[in-house]
Amino acid sequence: MKKIGLIGGMSWESTVTYYRLLNEGVRERLGGLHSCRILMESVDFSEYETLMQKDDWEGIGNKLTQTALNTEAAGADMLLIGANTMHMAADTVQSSLEIPLIHIADAIAEKAKELNVQKLGLLGTTFTMEKDFITRPLTEKYGLDVLIPDEKARTVIHDSIFNEFCYGKFISSTREKYIRIIQQLERDGAEAIILGCTEIALLVKPTDCNIPLIDTVQAHVDAALNAALDE
Ligand code: GLU
Repeated sequence: MKKIGLIGGMSWESTVTYYRLLNEGVRERLGGLHSCRILMESVDFSEYETLMQKDDWEGIGNKLTQTALNTEAAGADMLLIGANTMHMAADTVQSSLEIPLIHIADAIAEKAKELNVQKLGLLGTTFTMEKDFITRPLTEKYGLDVLIPDEKARTVIHDSIFNEFCYGKFISSTREKYIRIIQQLERDGAEAIILGCTEIALLVKPTDCNIPLIDTVQAHVDAALNAALDE
């Protein structure tokens, strides 16, 4: 089994899920007392949030690259950046590394293929929904169609991520708002919804919706385990 490098802490609420799912995945695939070989550097998210507020993606790229290099030097065979938004700097990070970065958009596309869906709704931070670092690979590399919610809904989603989820708050009135946003995307033609922020699956569950959800943590973990176990 190869060793999976993970940049965590963005936020740590979802890094806990990464750790659990990686280990559950290995137990499911290998059985017995097998567990996942993981090398994690968990960052101080406040430093990244401050840079995001300033739209300083070069600064974020530099910090993430240093963290990625630490993980590589410590012996990781591959790297996961445990957040969708931070994939804005994925190309910068990959260009400094020898080991492969498992890109979250590739993992999402794999799940879309398994579900046999073409048109996907995307929920995430405003960076993830409005910039093209997730949507471009999905549309250009995989030929998928991506819908995003209207501006008011995008603000609701973004604010709930930073003011609630990253503080560990998962409240039912916010879940109701998400369900309404998902229902609108479904009316607009979405066949599945990408939970394109690693904390959203802690709030919204498949039973809340009529269409399938692509949980980006699960997708990312599955892609990493395929690579780590050569499957
Ligand atoms: N975890 C989130 C994501 O997947 C949002 C926090 C962040 O900006 O990293 O995008």
